[in-house]
Amino acid sequence: MKALLVYPRFPTTYWGFQYSLSLAGKKAALPPLGLITLAAQLPSSWELRLRDLNIQPLSNADLEWANAVLVGGMRVQMPSMHEVIARAKKMGRRTVVGGPAPSTAPEEFDDADVVFQGEAEGRIDALVSAIESQGQQRVSDSDNRPDVSLAPVPRYDLLELRHYASMSIQYSRGCPFHCEFCDVIELFGQVPRVKSSQQLMAELAALHDIGYRGTIFFVDDNFIGNRRMVKQFLPELTQWQRERGYPFELYTEASVNLAGDESLVAAMVEAGFSSVFLGIESPSADALREAGKKQNLKMDLGEVVDRLTRVGLEVMGGFIVGFDSDTAEVFEAQRTFLSRTPIPLAMVGMLTALPGTQLSRRLEREGRLRTQSTGDQFGRPNFEPSMNERTLLNGYANLMRDLYTADSYYDRCEAYLDRATAPLGRRRIEVRDLLTVLRTSLKVGLIGSGRKRYWRLLVRAFRRTPRFVPWAIVKGIMGEHMIQYTLRDVLPRLERAIEDLTDRTPSRVDLAIAPDPLTAH
Ligand code: SF4
Repeated sequence: MKALLVYPRFPTTYWGFQYSLSLAGKKAALPPLGLITLAAQLPSSWELRLRDLNIQPLSNADLEWANAVLVGGMRVQMPSMHEVIARAKKMGRRTVVGGPAPSTAPEEFDDADVVFQGEAEGRIDALVSAIESQGQQRVSDSDNRPDVSLAPVPRYDLLELRHYASMSIQYSRGCPFHCEFCDVIELFGQVPRVKSSQQLMAELAALHDIGYRGTIFFVDDNFIGNRRMVKQFLPELTQWQRERGYPFELYTEASVNLAGDESLVAAMVEAGFSSVFLGIESPSADALREAGKKQNLKMDLGEVVDRLTRVGLEVMGGFIVGFDSDTAEVFEAQRTFLSRTPIPLAMVGMLTALPGTQLSRRLEREGRLRTQSTGDQFGRPNFEPSMNERTLLNGYANLMRDLYTADSYYDRCEAYLDRATAPLGRRRIEVRDLLTVLRTSLKVGLIGSGRKRYWRLLVRAFRRTPRFVPWAIVKGIMGEHMIQYTLRDVLPRLERAIEDLTDRTPSRVDLAIAPDPLTAH
């Protein structure tokens, strides 16, 4: 069997950094970890080819070569997934889909010959048999979550490493919390399953052995879902890193209760973690209660960010507007929160009802669900919102515009710089880093809209300690994307969504006259 593994194209997104990857000489932010993990489980007699459409096109020659085309991805990749399926079918190839999108909404993949729901570990025989059979095959998710200790070392060797800004690795699946809008717990359950330390060390060693050095994203949706196990694992990770001179800088996602566990935070920093994505969601207690996000109600969220910042864990924050309890005041509350907290990379999304979630089920019961989400947060909501829709879209557009002016972005960077512990500066500077500095100086420092602020950040970083300078350059690169993406994609799409509204009654918030408090403070 010749199996072609295809990772579909992502549209431009905040976390894809498409507007600035070229500054770092990269084509994609992250590799297709799910597909290379699957690749390691397919029969060793099969011939495999991997094509990541985010770094290369899919050629007819690739499709001609294959007997079966396996496509895996998330909802935002669905248009590209369907394109690949159509091309492969036209050439008479067997088409197979799996991953998060078909797992939560298999009915949206009637065009594929095989739809595989759920995780592959321990179920690979069922997948292989479906691929080798004739006609349409549906392999439903099993009630028993597989033991992740069965997961093999991903086939990192299939990747063209040089094209990726970061590598990724997975320690655990599942999260013990109960957030209403979250599809992670539907996909992976609420009992976090962790890999053994030996497994993780083998994965890190595989990356190290093929010559990779740089950042690694632990893709776990909540890295501290099983705190007892992660505390056992971190000292071993620290030792591994120390013995090799810290070849990897690590980042991940976690729940906000991380900040309440000092020893855990210290162990993460010691192991080489330098940033963490937190789902902060909202400064509104009513919104957090409504979303079932109880863990965020137990701590002062500003204090959470401050504590992590002070020890050198940069917080990337996720925020949401459009909860039922949100009123027009929520936009100002989000602005105020963000203007007081040192979070350079803050992403505010509009509440979306993803398929299979508690939120989606509730809205359906209430007769408010409009369509299945496409994963796009910058259009009209896929359900009837409680807030006047025009007010919601206008308020959201204003908030996004304010958040990613060059001034407000660099203000947040400076706030971080003023409060954070200096990085340890463990990474060696290489020739490719100098090229990145040169390209960034030209694009961000000479013609970028925030060029003055970029140089000001560099000078401030240097004055605090030269060890902050690489951080400041990376922030310049990331900021370029955030600012450009907001301006060129997010705001025009939101403006189109506002124009689409049939209800043309004026609302209290108007895009043209909205204040700019983030940049005015
Ligand atoms: S903490 Fe994060 S991963 Fe866990 S249920 Fe809530 S949103 Fe999902």
